Amino acid sequence: MVKYVYAFEEGNKEMKKLLGGKGANLAEMTKIGLPVPQGFTVSTEACNKYYEDNKQINDEIKKEIFNNLKDLEQRTEKIFGDIDNPLLVSVRSGAVISMPGMMDTILNLGLNDESVEGLAKATENKRFAYDSYRRFIQMFSDVVLEISKYKFDNILESEKENNNLELDTELTIENLKNIIKEYKELVFKETRKRFPQDPKEQLLMAIEAVFDSWNNPRANVYRQLHDIPSHLGTAVNVQSMVFGNMGETSGTGVAFTRNPSTGEKKLFGEFLMNAQGEDVVAGIRTPQTIEHLKNVMPEVYEQFTNVAELLENHYTDMQDIEFTIENGNLYLLQTRNGKRTAAAAINIAVEMVRDGIIDKETALMRIEPIQLDQLLHPTFDEKALIESNKITQGLPASPGAATGKICFSAEDVVKASQEKQKTILVRMETSPEDIEGMVAAEGILTARGGMTSHAAVVARGMGKCCVAGCGEIKVDEKNKLFKVNGKTFNEGDYISLDGNTGIVYEGKIPTREPELSGNFAELMKWADEYRILKIRTNADTPRDAQTAVKFGAEGIGLCRTEHMFFDDERITVVRQMITSKTVENRLKALDKLLPYQKEDFVGIFKAMEDRPVTIRLLDPPLHEFLPHTDEDIRQLSQQIKVDYNELKETVEELKEFNPMLGHRGCRLAITYPEIYEMQVKAIMMAAIEVKKETGIAVKPEIMVPLVGLEKELEIIRELINNTAQAVMKEANTEVEYLVGTMIEVPRAALTANEIAKHAEFFSFGTNDLTQTTFAFSRDDSGKFISEYRKKGIFEKDPFERIDQAGVGKLMEIAVELGQQTRKDIKLGICGEHGGEPESIRFCHKLGLHYVSCSPFRVPIARLAAARAVVINKVQSK
Ligand code: ADP
Ligand code: MG
Ligand code: MG
Repeated sequence: MVKYVYAFEEGNKEMKKLLGGKGANLAEMTKIGLPVPQGFTVSTEACNKYYEDNKQINDEIKKEIFNNLKDLEQRTEKIFGDIDNPLLVSVRSGAVISMPGMMDTILNLGLNDESVEGLAKATENKRFAYDSYRRFIQMFSDVVLEISKYKFDNILESEKENNNLELDTELTIENLKNIIKEYKELVFKETRKRFPQDPKEQLLMAIEAVFDSWNNPRANVYRQLHDIPSHLGTAVNVQSMVFGNMGETSGTGVAFTRNPSTGEKKLFGEFLMNAQGEDVVAGIRTPQTIEHLKNVMPEVYEQFTNVAELLENHYTDMQDIEFTIENGNLYLLQTRNGKRTAAAAINIAVEMVRDGIIDKETALMRIEPIQLDQLLHPTFDEKALIESNKITQGLPASPGAATGKICFSAEDVVKASQEKQKTILVRMETSPEDIEGMVAAEGILTARGGMTSHAAVVARGMGKCCVAGCGEIKVDEKNKLFKVNGKTFNEGDYISLDGNTGIVYEGKIPTREPELSGNFAELMKWADEYRILKIRTNADTPRDAQTAVKFGAEGIGLCRTEHMFFDDERITVVRQMITSKTVENRLKALDKLLPYQKEDFVGIFKAMEDRPVTIRLLDPPLHEFLPHTDEDIRQLSQQIKVDYNELKETVEELKEFNPMLGHRGCRLAITYPEIYEMQVKAIMMAAIEVKKETGIAVKPEIMVPLVGLEKELEIIRELINNTAQAVMKEANTEVEYLVGTMIEVPRAALTANEIAKHAEFFSFGTNDLTQTTFAFSRDDSGKFISEYRKKGIFEKDPFERIDQAGVGKLMEIAVELGQQTRKDIKLGICGEHGGEPESIRFCHKLGLHYVSCSPFRVPIARLAAARAVVINKVQSK
């Protein structure tokens, strides 16, 4: 028989899959003797069963729940719904992978018109009992009955207003009774049913609601964003209540064992006295920092500090802990590995290795490569910052720098982002409904809420710049403006946020390039010790090349030569070349281009010193270089002294219906060999020049794009060799060079054994290979790929992550066939996928020699390549 419900005593931290993260850790804390209120967990299997049974909790599960409830009554010596000493519980969701704020928790369940009196009697605190009851009705109605929270807030606020009260804590028993009466009336008005009075019914309804919330839109968005599979299900924890709202010796709080923004080894958290759970995270009252607890309740503070240290050592990772103090007694309600910024993740991992708590492999596995992206983005230019106008300052909730136009709602942000506009989401406070806007915004600014508010936690998780709790700004979401110190800012105005200081600036501020130093550099060194793949970069300019080298690139895997053609000065010559009617004229134009190309390569070779540089010969369709408007044609005809009508006719002739599959890549060189000839000349001359000038032994790798047939490459290789020989002979010197090809057409992959006869290296052009394998246009597929993802046809966009089953299969075939012909053929990848961790792991498995990615992705690739080794080691054990 399957067991569906587990008492906390029966579980441990390894049982996450069954008990969810929260349940497993509550069990673990119980096991190691920490003060955890007793309770039980309804398993994720029960959740899946619930969905299997068409959203019904079956009798077997119900029986287990009530058996456990009975146990709980015995152990707590309280009775569910009792009129003297009632047992109250919280009902808490807990997915396998923690999803902050995504699922809803209900507190004080078990209260009804009778047991509220019992609670008052047992605690000798009537006010507290009524306060708990009104909280319960509100929460239960919001989560289970789906009545909007603000309707209850309105009742509460007007009761406060009518009695001239400012704080919730000032509400009297009479006030609370009025509120409860009105709450219940509201429930009846909204649902045509009385607020449920039977605690057992309340419990089952709450459990069902948690199961249902597994599929609410917010949870789905979060799962998609974080690649969490939807079949995991959520567990439900039923736990006896402890009360932080019993008076001034009670309270509640959350704390991280280290600073989640910087990683500093120091307790970091907040608490509120006389408050219950949600009050701290909801950001309604501004909490006090955890150190302050030392003054309020020194003994509890001391005890908590010890528990925090114990938990961090026990889990060997930074913990995020939720606690409640009831009449001076400390209770632990949750612990989990704390979410942190990339900077904090690195600092914590490196320091834990230094302190001997974890080893290097664990440290590498603690940092998601993609997270590094946060550190590889620019920060504000410090000089510009000094000259900028400070508007106000809030809490530095999540680091980074953001500049954008003000938007006041998530929808507005999403709309603006579709128009490629950068925005800052400004809100009173954020809630889980804002998640899509938070994803699309450059940064987030809130008026309310602390360092553990929703905005702060979610932003840190996404690595998004966030300034929270900016009390001075008065947000008017309805009229889309905010006021601060006498100034008004409207929707569309530019502001800038510094997530490291919490300062908000007026206008746009330029940014500065990031650096790789300190613990970050240390971690990269460890990654280099582990990885087998080499990391190259895609760079077309000496500046990109330098950036990449700074980030640890070991070569260039793709230097696109056509980017050099678009320069204002050169485009006329290029146009002259491609519209030439005769070879002579074409050669004349090419002669003019030669010195330009040579200079480009000299710059790149110098920047890369003795690292390998793969240069791809001209690839894009000629039509990309053509003059587009009549005006352009007229201008060109004057510049190159060709008759307008004649030129127009040539341009028309060169136009293609489907340029991506048209006259491009090596096909160009078959028809116009002079173009590649000029490019090879430029490469060789540059190599010779740099060698003479600096002594660097440049070894260019000349790469032919879009090859599909052996013969194509054979012809072009001969052209390359002849040209190179001629240049070397004339300079009377030798330069080593390689000739290879891109594998980006399925036919090339399938006949790689033939193609390898003429190629010393293969470089997988997975952008085109994906395009040609799927017959998806790279330029147009965005429109339907998002729909494919929504419908579950794709888990990930195949242009983002290699489609291993199809495109990957072709790569595998090409590797195998290529090596059959040429055992030591050099293998690499230069598509966008070369910077995507999962694809990098695949390349490692295939046995490629290097991946090549954009300069800013180089550190991500270094880490991903190291993790690929560690993961494979673990998996083969
Ligand atoms: P989340 O996953 O959103 O953090 P939790 O289940 O942790 O939701 O509940 C939110 C808060 O509710 C907790 O941090 C805690 O303060 C309070 N809470 C939950 N269960 C109890 C309980 N048994 N007694 C007292 N407070 C509780
Ligand atoms: Mg929690
Ligand atoms: Mg290509």
